[in-house]
Amino acid sequence: MNSVLATLNAPQREAATTIDRHVRIIAGAGSGKTRVLMARIAYLIEEIGIYPSRILAITFTNKATNEMKNRLTDLIGDDARIVRISTIHSLCVRILREDGDRLGYPKAFVIMDNDDQRQILRPFYKEWNIDRKMYPYARAIGYISDCKTAGVDPDEAMKLAMGPTQELFAKFYREYEAKRKEMKAMDFDDLLLEARRLLEKEKDVREKWQKRLDYIHVDEFQDVDPVQYHIVRLLTGPDAKLCVVGDPDQTIYTWRGASVEIILRFDKDFPDCKTIVLNQNYRSTQPILNASNAVIRHNKDRIEKELFTELPGDRKIDLQECADDNEEPLTIARKIHDAHAAGLPYHDIAILYRSNFSSRAFERILRKTGIPYRIYGGLRFYDRQEIKDALCYLRLCAHKDEADPDQFSLDLAVLRVINQPRRAIGAKTIEKLQDQAAKRHINLYEVMKDPQGLGNAVVNKCRGFVELIEELRAHRADYSLEDYLDYIMDESGYYRMLKENNEEDRIDNIKELQQDIAQNLREDPDMTLETYLQDIALFTDREDDQAGECVNLMTVHAAKGLEFHSVYLVNFNEGIFPSARSVQEGGNAALEEERRLCYVAMTRAKESLCISWNGGYSYMLEQNKTPSRFLLEIPKKWTNAPQEKPKPQPQMLLRAAGHRRVPFHKGDLVEHTVYGQGVVIRLEGGVATVAFDHTVGIKKLNAFHPSLKKV
Ligand code: ATP
Ligand code: MG
Repeated sequence: MNSVLATLNAPQREAATTIDRHVRIIAGAGSGKTRVLMARIAYLIEEIGIYPSRILAITFTNKATNEMKNRLTDLIGDDARIVRISTIHSLCVRILREDGDRLGYPKAFVIMDNDDQRQILRPFYKEWNIDRKMYPYARAIGYISDCKTAGVDPDEAMKLAMGPTQELFAKFYREYEAKRKEMKAMDFDDLLLEARRLLEKEKDVREKWQKRLDYIHVDEFQDVDPVQYHIVRLLTGPDAKLCVVGDPDQTIYTWRGASVEIILRFDKDFPDCKTIVLNQNYRSTQPILNASNAVIRHNKDRIEKELFTELPGDRKIDLQECADDNEEPLTIARKIHDAHAAGLPYHDIAILYRSNFSSRAFERILRKTGIPYRIYGGLRFYDRQEIKDALCYLRLCAHKDEADPDQFSLDLAVLRVINQPRRAIGAKTIEKLQDQAAKRHINLYEVMKDPQGLGNAVVNKCRGFVELIEELRAHRADYSLEDYLDYIMDESGYYRMLKENNEEDRIDNIKELQQDIAQNLREDPDMTLETYLQDIALFTDREDDQAGECVNLMTVHAAKGLEFHSVYLVNFNEGIFPSARSVQEGGNAALEEERRLCYVAMTRAKESLCISWNGGYSYMLEQNKTPSRFLLEIPKKWTNAPQEKPKPQPQMLLRAAGHRRVPFHKGDLVEHTVYGQGVVIRLEGGVATVAFDHTVGIKKLNAFHPSLKKV
């Protein structure tokens, strides 16, 4: 027997060697689905003599593509390079580059990203005088994408449109398509749709591809959507054999149109398919696997399956309750440090979180402790666009003209936020302002205060911007530093812009920046806005760790299909994981998807899994954090938890919604109904630290509580 096959168990081997029928593998996490795909490809090439380029394997991400290529090279050597391993999008690009001219596209057609899409719509907003606040780009683009994936063309969309909004969007759709076709460009949806159309319409193109491919494999099949599935079917010729593998419990992309029904109904479409179930997990130890199984069992909408593992190891799941978002990363960093010192390479360690904003506190501590890290599939916190914008607003507001020796340092900040949100100050105007600044030897902001020789409209726009900044500066003393950021983002219209664009993730990141300021204040109560900004600048200047031996930081979505010796699942808090927003918007179905996501996260761990959360105040949730409800679903016996199950704390609402102006300042004299008079010595996150009479001492109090009043 071939050496690869020798390492497989019986059902795995059957899956790898059943080559005269279509095959469907339905199996839980870590049961060797991806490994079977690779063994099968190796078997086809080495034992059966199939030419490598006649084999296609579709993976979910580029990272998975690379990993599969590398692992296959280890197995069979250079032949692996000729096997067609790619994501579905790259495959479609390939198909369209070859024969897209049949649909009227040039060989080098342009692939449009989100910005390009907006550029197409922009002139129509202008021409038709459409208010972008009422009809944001993101909604128009979302509508277009929905129509496209539903197979509705602009004419039909026009007929189906109900009410003025849909009619307007349908008009946008018509113009967008006309313009796109004129440019002979494609957006991401088009890549799939046009490849499908080409294969459907052009029999010879379809047959050419079908003749090229004898064996087609699809990994992570539980997350394909109907269009992708259709493409796979079109590529599968009468003699080709399809092998799909997936785990319905790991469907985590339904929000993007994935449908678990496709894998479940596969045998209706391919009646002669062989279904193979794998139930031995080779990745994780018993505590990790059993706990993961216990969590996913809480989903009602699922097919029961049980996985077992024979892997030795009785290390229980390490549950870590931490005080706040400083202690949590410190605790994790200490553990990582110890594990590394004991010989575990950094690349075997992953920190996983539900949403991107969570990376901030961990990046901060990893840098401080000198542990190298890399963020997978995303930018580092301070490199994110909205964080840069927010810091530029702060820089503008912190600026005191007379105190700054380099008055031009402000220009970059002005340029960055001048049209964020849009204030219709065009590139030509900005150029003129810059010219003036150079001639008059003053900075851009000074020019905007007093623009000379420019039209009234421009002068008014400049005045509007300057008035905003002056207004923001004037209120600086009214807020604690972290609330000042919130106020700026509100007053400048920045939050509104993000809301209109449905960019809730970016809002979460800004709330996290508030968290950052509060945390720094806690460590250094004398910190000022100026010193904070200096610290951040130093922090972001630091050399990048991105290459080499690094701890991996990523969202759970990005961790799909991967495995690590040690996994730290962090910020396991209610409202964060499960995400409050998803659950509010999507109800029980969304909660079950969050639970599948939790299952994916836990099953990434091979030998050690640590789950942590903290009880600090969250600016995003506007309350103190409590543990995730999923924590209660992990049986205690697989964890190191003390006998009592952690219970969600009663939620302490610290602040009222809306504008939260702290009712007094640091240094103010206040009166408490019970403690008497005292002096506010610190204000942070709606918590006032007050020094009372020596018999009472120092107390931390809710600054908004009616028992506390300014004298
Ligand atoms: P996921 O659902 O997370 O994608 P999977 O089902 O694709 O998981 P793999 O990643 O293929 O699982 O396998 C999990 C781990 O178990 C890998 O390290 C793999 O090498 C190992 N493994 C799988 N089958 C065997 C086997 N028969 N003998 C030894 N190790 C195995
Ligand atoms: Mg896999």
